[in-house]
Amino acid sequence: MSRFLSRRHKNLVPYVPGEQPREGSFIKLNTNESPFPPSPLVLERVREEAAALRLYPDPDARRLREKLAAHLGVTPENVLVTNGSDEALAFAFLAFFDEETPVRFPDITYGFYPVYCSLCGVTADIRPLREDFTVCVDDYIAAGRPIILANPNAPTGLFLPVSDIERIAASNPDHIVLIDEAYIDFGGESAVPLINRYENLLVVGTFSKSRSLAGARIGYAVASPPLIQDLDTIRNSFNPYNLSRMSMAAGEAALIEQAYYTNNCLEIVRVREKTAERLKKLGFVLTDSRANFLFARHPKHSGRDLYSGLRGRGILVRWFNRPRISEYLRITIGTAEQMNTFLKEVQSIIEREEP
Ligand code: PMP
Repeated sequence: MSRFLSRRHKNLVPYVPGEQPREGSFIKLNTNESPFPPSPLVLERVREEAAALRLYPDPDARRLREKLAAHLGVTPENVLVTNGSDEALAFAFLAFFDEETPVRFPDITYGFYPVYCSLCGVTADIRPLREDFTVCVDDYIAAGRPIILANPNAPTGLFLPVSDIERIAASNPDHIVLIDEAYIDFGGESAVPLINRYENLLVVGTFSKSRSLAGARIGYAVASPPLIQDLDTIRNSFNPYNLSRMSMAAGEAALIEQAYYTNNCLEIVRVREKTAERLKKLGFVLTDSRANFLFARHPKHSGRDLYSGLRGRGILVRWFNRPRISEYLRITIGTAEQMNTFLKEVQSIIEREEP
């Protein structure tokens, strides 16, 4: 730390992303990327767009917003696009949360929420999930303060029915209810159709997982027009050209070829269910994940040992050394072939090291 770092950031503990290995041929099941490549039109449009890189991109991202709005069944005035959904979350913190009002979210959820709290001087009002990692909905009814819920949650993968999201939004009319739907396309049901009824509801999504575009950094926020205008004020006070020309071109093309991604999602769900079944046969205990990952522990093998055993065999999964979940692995769903290799290696670790 330099002596110049502002006093308000002295205690900031940054988010630590999952490992992105620079070399080696790992099977990468650690950061919830898609195992499938972007669709052909994405590559073509990105190549074409490269010729125009001399010029700034459209600061209103009009074409991408129009296509995304049509896909989501809302209007472009309901949509803001961002540099990854992390940026949408950051804009929401800057726009809506402050020192006066603590923000409520679960103890086990996306690790960036407490980091943004710390960055923006917002108090985190953390509520424990139940023993089985389900959300205690009553903790969020008439909370009298802003709420953030990832749905499906990460890293548990558990999904809260939209009827519960609606009850939460309806009972907190004077506070933002932010629903982070990074993993919604793998079997959940989106709360987006509720935004016309609840002016406090803000839904955040991403192209990183289901649309194979983690490297393009495309996220979005969907809400009533006044909330979107507030987020846009923050965006224009921070970085009006927040999405590159190539990212916007990639995003637009992905929406044109949506059928390709819908098929990939179906395949990921199929492989997820099959992998879950086979892990159960090996003695693993799993949550009922609706995301593109599984969350699993083995009663006889520690999370740390399984993580490092797999790493030694060329397979990266995510292990969080955190209270309540340190015995679990979060395993991104890869291709059927990758998951077969993963299962074979897990089995060999378990059989070789049977305590
Ligand atoms: N929300 C959740 C719950 C996530 O797991 C992630 C991925 N790390 C994000 C948001 C951010 O994704 P991105 O910035 O790639 O859109």
